[in-house]
Order: sequence, then structure tokens, then C-alpha cells
Amino acid sequence: MALFDKLIAASLPIVPKPIVRYFSRRYIAGERLEDAIQVVRELNREGALATIDVLGEHVSDPRQTEQAVLAYETVLDAIEAEKLNSNISLKPTQMGLRISYELCLENLRRIVRKAASLRNFVRIDMEDSTCTSDTIRLYQDLRKEFNNVGIALQAYLRRSLRDVEELLAISPNVRLCKGIYVEPREIAYKDKEIIRRNFVLLAETLLRGGAYLGFATHDERLVWEGYRLVRDLHLNPTQYEFQMLLGVDDQLRRIILRDGHRLRVYVPFGDQWYAYSLRRLRENPQVAGYVFRAIFSRRAGRRETAPC
Ligand SMILES: Cc1cc2nc3c(=O)[nH]c(=O)nc-3n(C[C@H](O)[C@H](O)[C@H](O)COP(=O)(O)OP(=O)(O)OC[C@H]3O[C@@H](n4cnc5c(N)ncnc54)[C@H](O)[C@@H]3O)c2cc1C
Repeated sequence: MALFDKLIAASLPIVPKPIVRYFSRRYIAGERLEDAIQVVRELNREGALATIDVLGEHVSDPRQTEQAVLAYETVLDAIEAEKLNSNISLKPTQMGLRISYELCLENLRRIVRKAASLRNFVRIDMEDSTCTSDTIRLYQDLRKEFNNVGIALQAYLRRSLRDVEELLAISPNVRLCKGIYVEPREIAYKDKEIIRRNFVLLAETLLRGGAYLGFATHDERLVWEGYRLVRDLHLNPTQYEFQMLLGVDDQLRRIILRDGHRLRVYVPFGDQWYAYSLRRLRENPQVAGYVFRAIFSRRAGRRETAPC
């Protein structure tokens, strides 16, 4: 990312919300469940799988966690009713992790149990490093009761190799990604090449240890490494899939599907779009620059070029 775009990305929190909303439209299916269903239907038609995320995080009121559980139960029913090829992804802090571990575990249990009754699957997203140990514990506790649950691990964390080695004992189902939260150097690798190499090391350790792996990346070098591992380890489609975010590199998505791999798209929807949008815009090599130009043209009174 160019220095200018990096600067803009760092100042995104002061960008007016309507502008953030405008530029993040591509990453979010919409505000309503019907919007997500429509997007998943189109992806399924194209041959892609999906995972639906009800946007929301850092909930501090237990009543809101109850609403989140109900929202996910509704999503599971809709997936079943509409015969969609999709599972769900959720965040522990949306389920009450910041309130209490027990509340969060109980909320997750309800959702995973409901998913099991519909032969569906729940992926637990990984949030910032203050949540890592509890999220892994949640996963280990849930795996004592259920098989239909998976976790996400981040290649930028220095601890991830140890976590992988510990989790191999329970035959985990892992989504492996680079990691998106801003972490200090003591906790996370900063060097892009080390993060890439760690991604490959973790992927290979997981696959050799018998885990199911989701390669969650748009980095074509890592996609290539994924292809290499699939070939070298003679993997079949029951052992791995590729995963991408809605709105990022549709061409790469079509290439991976054309090459005959299973590919799942992360489809977020809901009215809590702001935090997720900021993370996506921060990662976009160009949109941060567009945002700056939009604000500038707005200030200059050229409203026709500014989003509303
Ligand atoms: C399915 C899925 C689930 C994820 N779940 C989590 C999670 O639970 N926890 C977590 O911390 N992180 C999660 N992430 C985010 C991940 O950690 C990375 O931050 C993100 O995927 C970017 O890393 P990358 O491997 O694509 O490599 P990058 O080097 O960041 O990106 C590779 C290329 O992809 C394109 N690209 C990437 N992002 C964007 C964007 N926003 N807009 C436009 N182009 C873009 C660019 O061309 C870029 O050069 C998830 C990612 C995916 C794909």
C-alpha cells in the first residue's frame, strides 16, 4: 500500500460515517437477512459456498446477546428453508465474551446445538489478541459436545504455532487467515514475509495433523501455496477449502472455482456494519485514497461526486 493510502487508512475513524458506508457497500450484503440470502443464492449458483455473518461485536448488555442468538437461529432456519449452501460465522464478543465466559459459552452452545439439528456448521471468528485464549477455550469446550464447530486462527500471532499443536489433539476444523487487528510487536509478527511463511507453516502443520483447513486469503502467493499443499499432501475436497471475503477479488474467486476447489465466501449483513467496514477499508490498497478524495470533493462543495 502506498504511503498516502496508509496515512488515509490510519485516519479512517474520523471519516464521516456516510462516506465509510458508501465505500464499504461491496463488502456487505445489505442490512436485511433477505439481502444476505440473495447474495448467497447468487454465489451458490456460481458454485461457491458461503458463510453468513450477522454483523455485531463487543456487546456489553446480555439482552443484546439474546438478540444475537435469535438472529443466528433465524439465519439457520432461513438457510434450511431456502436450501442454501451456507454455514454461519460469529464473533465471541457478540455472544457476550466481554460480559462473562459462561454467558458466551451458553449462547454459543444454543447456536451450535440448533445448527447440529439442521446438519449445519458454526465457525467462530477470531477477534483481537485479548480474546484469543478465551476463544480457544470456548472451542475446546464446545468440541467436547459437538463436531459441527470450527475456529479461526491468525498467522500473524506469535503464539499460533503453539495453539495449533495443542488443538491438533481435538481434530480441529480451522479457518487460517493472516489476522486483521492492530497488535503490538510482542504479540504479532509485523514483517509481511514472516506472516506469509508462518501461514504456510501453520497450514502444513494442521493438514499433516489431520485438521480440516480453510485457506482464508486473497494473497495469490498463499493461494499458490495452498494449491501446492493440496497437491503434495494428496488432499481431497473433504479435507480443505479456500475462503474469501465478499467484495474482494472476484476474479481470483472465479479462478479458484474454475480450478475445481471448494471455495466459501464470507457474507456479512446487518445494521452493525461500521467496525467491519473500517477493517475492510483499511486493508484495501486503493479505496482509502478514494475516500480521501470523496471527503475533499465534498468539502469543496462538489456534492455530485461525494457519496450520500
Ligand atoms: C473468509 C475470511 C475470514 C476471515 N476471518 C478473520 C478472522 O476471523 N479474524 C481475523 O483477524 N481476520 C479474518 N480475516 C481477515 C484476514 O485476517 C486478512 O486481514 C485479510 O484476509 C487480508 O489478508 P490476505 O491474506 O487477503 O492478504 P493481503 O496481503 O492483505 O491481501 C492480498 C490482496 O487481496 C486484496 N485485498 C485484501 N483485502 C482487500 C480489501 N479489503 N479490499 C480490496 N482488496 C483487498 C488486495 O489486492 C491485496 O493485495 C478473514 C479473511 C477471510 C478471507
